[in-house]
Amino acid sequence: MDNMKADNLWHITRGERLKYLGATLAMAGTNIFLFSAPVVGGAAIDVVDQGLAAGHSVVRDVASAFADATPASYLLVAAALVLLLTGVGGLFLYVRGRLAALASEAIARRLREALYRRLHDVTARFYDAADTGDLVQRCSSDVETVRVFLATDIIEIGRAIMLVVCVVPVLFLIHSQLAWLSLVLMPFLALGAYLFFARVKSVYQLTDEAEAAMTATLQENLTGIRVVRAFARQNYEISKFGARNANFRDLNNRLIRLMGLYWGTSDFFAMMQIGIVLFAGAHFIVVGSLTIGELFTFMTCESMVIWPVRQLGRVLTDSGKAVVSLGRINDVLIEAKEAPARIPVGQRAQGEIDIEDLTLSYDDSPVLSDLNLHIRAGETLALVGPPGSGKSTLIRALLRLYPYSQGSLKLDGEEIADLDRHWLRQQIAVVMQEPFLYSRSIRDNLTIGRPHAPEPEVLRAVSDAAIAGSIERFPNGFEEMVGERGVTLSGGQRQRLALARALLKDPPVLVLDDSLSAVDTGTEGQILSALAKRKGRHTTIIIAHRLSSVIDADRIVVLQEGRIAQMGTHNQLASTPGPYQRLCEIQGALDASIAEDISEEITS
Ligand code: ADP
Repeated sequence: MDNMKADNLWHITRGERLKYLGATLAMAGTNIFLFSAPVVGGAAIDVVDQGLAAGHSVVRDVASAFADATPASYLLVAAALVLLLTGVGGLFLYVRGRLAALASEAIARRLREALYRRLHDVTARFYDAADTGDLVQRCSSDVETVRVFLATDIIEIGRAIMLVVCVVPVLFLIHSQLAWLSLVLMPFLALGAYLFFARVKSVYQLTDEAEAAMTATLQENLTGIRVVRAFARQNYEISKFGARNANFRDLNNRLIRLMGLYWGTSDFFAMMQIGIVLFAGAHFIVVGSLTIGELFTFMTCESMVIWPVRQLGRVLTDSGKAVVSLGRINDVLIEAKEAPARIPVGQRAQGEIDIEDLTLSYDDSPVLSDLNLHIRAGETLALVGPPGSGKSTLIRALLRLYPYSQGSLKLDGEEIADLDRHWLRQQIAVVMQEPFLYSRSIRDNLTIGRPHAPEPEVLRAVSDAAIAGSIERFPNGFEEMVGERGVTLSGGQRQRLALARALLKDPPVLVLDDSLSAVDTGTEGQILSALAKRKGRHTTIIIAHRLSSVIDADRIVVLQEGRIAQMGTHNQLASTPGPYQRLCEIQGALDASIAEDISEEITS
């Protein structure tokens, strides 16, 4: 399933074709039984019109087996037979629909699963260019379009072919001249369907893209709603969404107009066709080459053939939609996966990191250039530097999210590019500035990396991350739900909960990516001293803007434009002229002015 092929409709039906074969057979059964009913009905009309001799011998025989063969007993048996034939035909119809539904649901499920799996396996670079709303649409409405096509339209196409193949010869058997006349307008109906399809396909594609654009705007806005509000961009965003919404509506209206035009015109031609048969049929009855019953059978069969021809437009449209959707699904399925691992690794890493001449670029210009750094197992290293200096990029390289073009990056002496991805990411826990929490209980969020962690370790992790007190104050403690259905956590609480989650995972390498920024300085001090007590257990990399977070690190590395500008302890760097000293001066001045403001407020 991992390599599910979805480049055409035939490939995706793999494993379900037997069900489709069953559905086709059931459809043949439906046609035979449902089609026999008007034949029996037509003969019954002739019995009423012309007497018993005009009826079918089989029906007559059955009637005489029960009673005298009179027109009344004939009609009774014929009526029972019509009921029986329609009933069995209906049963086959049910089997057909059920099998097609089972097959299409199974295929849709497999498509969704294959998509979701691939989305987990693609490179991080894929997500730089991808649009979440658009991806959501590919996994939901595109799969649904394909499913509807597989559930109904494939069957409809098969039915149309069977009807034309089985019913048209019967029309010729009944009356060949009338049969020719009954086909006069069919080419126009088919041509109209085809032209409509050609027109509607492009409009459908535009509508699909417009919907994706609308969903993407909505998704982007909801994700970044705080930023939108903070920058007072609501009106701009609302009008942007409004424009996309209106565009989607306009295209939908165009689709509806096209549909209306098509069905109106095709209704007109279908009625004309039936009118022609009715008039010509009446003429043939008058001249004696056709009976009333035969005309009844003929017209019922004729309407059976007209319907699928008229449906052709819809079926072709749906297949066009399904092909477009399948193409969009396939684009994701053929997206490159992350490179496979070569070295399988077993136990916990030591946490020693070696960086030699490392160069990494997203586009053309390098974001990290010729970086050299050795981090001892258990060391606490702080990374400081202006925004955009490459701090987060270094962490992404460490997680193997982006490949590096030159140099080497090793964990415990093994090149990271060669290590098993899953194992590697188990060795490194990253706490982000804006951590992601699931809408589950506090406990579930904590134990996501270690579902069966012993209770004392859970308690130690929450206490080291200074979140124990907050959890105690929640009405349901550890079982309190996070998010919509439960408590709303402050930025600091979220960061502390994410830190506890990382500590509980007990990783050899712990990365705090500006992850104490929303925590007040008192609590930060508490956390840092708890971390200091764990010293040696984790290699810790702290990215921070606040000096208080980095002062006690074993080593501080100052990054500037992807290069190491300075390296040393706080005391060494603070006493050397350079960027770190300037940072200390700025923060010192800032702290002093804040302290002044606070004291002014207290005295006033
Ligand atoms: P820092 O964490 O120090 O703020 P980053 O590592 O996030 O810096 O970014 C370093 C540089 O790389 C910046 O110029 C940024 O614009 C660029 N950059 C970051 N992520 C990407 C990306 N996914 N694609 C392209 N450029 C990126």
